[in-house]
Amino acid sequence: MAINSPRGTSDIFGDEIFYRDCIVDSAKKLFELFNYTRIITPAFEHTEIFNRGIGKSTDIVKKEMYTFPDRKGRSLTLRPEGTAPVVRAIIEHKLYSSKIPIKLFYIENMFRYERPQKGRMREFWQLGVEAAGVDNPLIDAEVIWLLALIFEELGFKNLKLLINSVGCENCRPQYIGVFKDYLKPYLESLCPDCRERYNTNPLRIFDCKIPSCIKIINNSPKIYSHICGRCSSHFKKVIELLKILNIPFVIKEELVRGFDYYTRTIFEIISEDLDSVQNALGGGGRYDKLIEQFGGPSIPSIGFAVGIDRTIVLMKQLGISWQIKKEPHNVFIILLEERFENYGLEFLNYLRRSSIKCDISFEIKKISTQIKWAEKNGFSHAAIIGEDELKSDNITVKNLADFKQSQFNWKKEPQKIYEILK
Ligand code: AMP
Repeated sequence: MAINSPRGTSDIFGDEIFYRDCIVDSAKKLFELFNYTRIITPAFEHTEIFNRGIGKSTDIVKKEMYTFPDRKGRSLTLRPEGTAPVVRAIIEHKLYSSKIPIKLFYIENMFRYERPQKGRMREFWQLGVEAAGVDNPLIDAEVIWLLALIFEELGFKNLKLLINSVGCENCRPQYIGVFKDYLKPYLESLCPDCRERYNTNPLRIFDCKIPSCIKIINNSPKIYSHICGRCSSHFKKVIELLKILNIPFVIKEELVRGFDYYTRTIFEIISEDLDSVQNALGGGGRYDKLIEQFGGPSIPSIGFAVGIDRTIVLMKQLGISWQIKKEPHNVFIILLEERFENYGLEFLNYLRRSSIKCDISFEIKKISTQIKWAEKNGFSHAAIIGEDELKSDNITVKNLADFKQSQFNWKKEPQKIYEILK
């Protein structure tokens, strides 16, 4: 029996690669423009990194991690997200000692044991940034601006940027008290998961998708109106700056996001064109205490992650075409007989050294069949090699759009190919 790829994973090839390249190339240009440099962290980390970073009572840590013992019995986990590993790296290499802010970006595959469906995979790709070392709301605005620009550059129009503040270590516990008091009379009406969340991590109740829970949450007091003066003025400033940048946003008081490390500003970019459960394309927030919690210095930080796979799903759905320009000119070399192979290889070498995208027929077939194949596979020109060419070095190049032919002696006038392909 044939073996397929594991559930929730996929092979990426063909057009999918073009979409990915388009997203990644466009984002990389913006990262550079915003002065971020790349970091690549290992695909797996000590499990502790995620337990401590993401939070033990989050869905990711409780039920979605690919955790396994290595041969020496150490517990390792395939990374389910990018922030905790980057924070670990910042501390391990003391990146804060040379430069503040530390502005890093990553493009990596993530692993979460989730129920696979369209736009939700067990292995998926994210690109994201982390900016460590700045408390100033300017960096919040800059990071949100960058997130919005990534989608703007790709040609998205009707996306919604949601923002909220989840307060800090001082005001959040107070709010949680207020929230729990409100929920107490409704405990029996909450779903079993939310009843558990009530004790372990009440804010997660805001993530529940069950209508009866949503109804109860809708009328609850929101964290936004319970944050302290310091968090409130920070948030107001972020809003002021986003307005200066002309970035449209909506304050969503129910927004909490799935990681425990977030403090103050959090944000998410969603599309109402994607189905309601999987509508988030990217999101992030501040994590002012995480580096300290990991044993590093007290460095307030902020970051976001964008789901590449989900962005592609929406690009396809909305007909946003990838803007990668295919090489306009490329030559397919057709050999009339096997004995011209060596000469064909020399010509191929000449074309490739001239930076002209090309390929050669590996099988001898009828010319018409080969030309059809070249047309179907996007070649703009064909060069046919037979006895005359071998003797004279005069190669005929056929334009496959209008079938005009041009001849040139490639050894004597090697530059002429550029004119012919123009
Ligand atoms: P998160 O790391 O959960 O904040 O997610 C950031 C973005 O990654 C989301 O907005 C999605 O676009 C994407 N994402 C998260 N989980 C998955 C998944 N299981 N499959 C595909 N994309 C995902």
